[in-house]
Amino acid sequence: MRNKIVAGNWKMNNDLAETEMFLVELKKQLFPENVVVMIAPSFTNLNHTFRSLREHPVMVVAQNMHQSNDGAFTGEISAKMLKSVGANTVILGHSERRAFFMEDNAILAEKVNTALENEMTVIFCIGEELEDRKKENHFQLIKTQLHEGLFHLSDSAWENIIIAYEPVWAIGTGETASPQQAQEMHQFIRKTIAENYSKTIADKVSILYGGSVKPDNASEIFAQEDVDGGLIGGASLNVESFMKIINSF
Ligand code: PEP
Repeated sequence: MRNKIVAGNWKMNNDLAETEMFLVELKKQLFPENVVVMIAPSFTNLNHTFRSLREHPVMVVAQNMHQSNDGAFTGEISAKMLKSVGANTVILGHSERRAFFMEDNAILAEKVNTALENEMTVIFCIGEELEDRKKENHFQLIKTQLHEGLFHLSDSAWENIIIAYEPVWAIGTGETASPQQAQEMHQFIRKTIAENYSKTIADKVSILYGGSVKPDNASEIFAQEDVDGGLIGGASLNVESFMKIINSF
């Protein structure tokens, strides 16, 4: 059975006081036992969030990291630093990192390697732009992102990989892929992994959907056979809407 996962990506939102307010509310909630819940605050709030949630089932995740283990990279954060503040999972390849910070598949493959060498779990984001979909190039693009970002990995490395399919045109736009479009792509991703590795590995990988998931559309998306949960941006900033999504399985 694959893990059901809901991960909140806060992006560059919530300072320390806002994070604390969120955590106070979050800790009053009851969590379903069959869902792994994660939140990804900014780097500056990881330590505080980890300490606050130490006795709590919600896991703390980082939004990014550098591909080098250490060195002269002013402003960057290493895997070891993340682990030292309790973040054992990292989001890599988010479309905002790809678009605004020029992270290409080659850099992302290096980041994946570094994260895995440091015994971290990776949430690897892939997704097409609207142009790709209009040109009906979206399946090929996803295949390339998988090949160049992940398909150098050994079989055993896949135990620490979670995939997030996030069509770029649906992120923060209010536009959501239909449940059928999500299922179609998730099934394609799983089939592609099976063809390059094995069905056993493909069947075990959790594939999350991301892109304007809200309380009112989460159940229909999560009900799809190959959708194992969601990577949630905007709706994860509010405890009430985040909890509704967590309870949508
Ligand atoms: C995201 O940032 O990964 C995301 C899916 O954002 P939103 O839910 O706001 O579209």
